[in-house]
Amino acid sequence: MKISKDSVVQFHYKITDLEGNELESSYDSHPALYLHGHSNMMEGIESLLDGKEKGDKVTGELAPEVTFGQRIEDASQRVPVKHLTGAEKWAPGMTAIVHTDQGQRQVTIMKMGKFMATVDLNHPLAGQTLIFDLEVTDVREASEDEISHGHAHGVGGHQH
Ligand SMILES: [Zn+2]
Repeated sequence: MKISKDSVVQFHYKITDLEGNELESSYDSHPALYLHGHSNMMEGIESLLDGKEKGDKVTGELAPEVTFGQRIEDASQRVPVKHLTGAEKWAPGMTAIVHTDQGQRQVTIMKMGKFMATVDLNHPLAGQTLIFDLEVTDVREASEDEISHGHAHGVGGHQH
């Protein structure tokens, strides 16, 4: 089946910069999983995958507006250390996941205090045009539960 609204899509990805340096890859772990057409995935990736089928591979050069966003100046914010997830001990330069009202955000630690950390809210890859290599590993219809929740269930998606 072709990917369209309410498809649950599983895909592998590789992100490289314009100089050809590999920045991120899902091939080291499990593929990403999302519910298509519900703004759960970056706009640029959804448009590359729209209409594709299991086994298809697609490559696209995507602008920051449709991926990790433009870099925002002065995007530093103080957050409680206990809200940082992804590591046991923190040091400046590390990236952490912070849960916000808008969902998960990947942030960069700028300064560490005992209870509060100063983080940069820009995604580490914000502001860059990047090459995305995508491979569709599975497409299926969403269940009624998934459509009413607005997200995919299973490995790589919500597990509850
Ligand atoms: Zn759910």
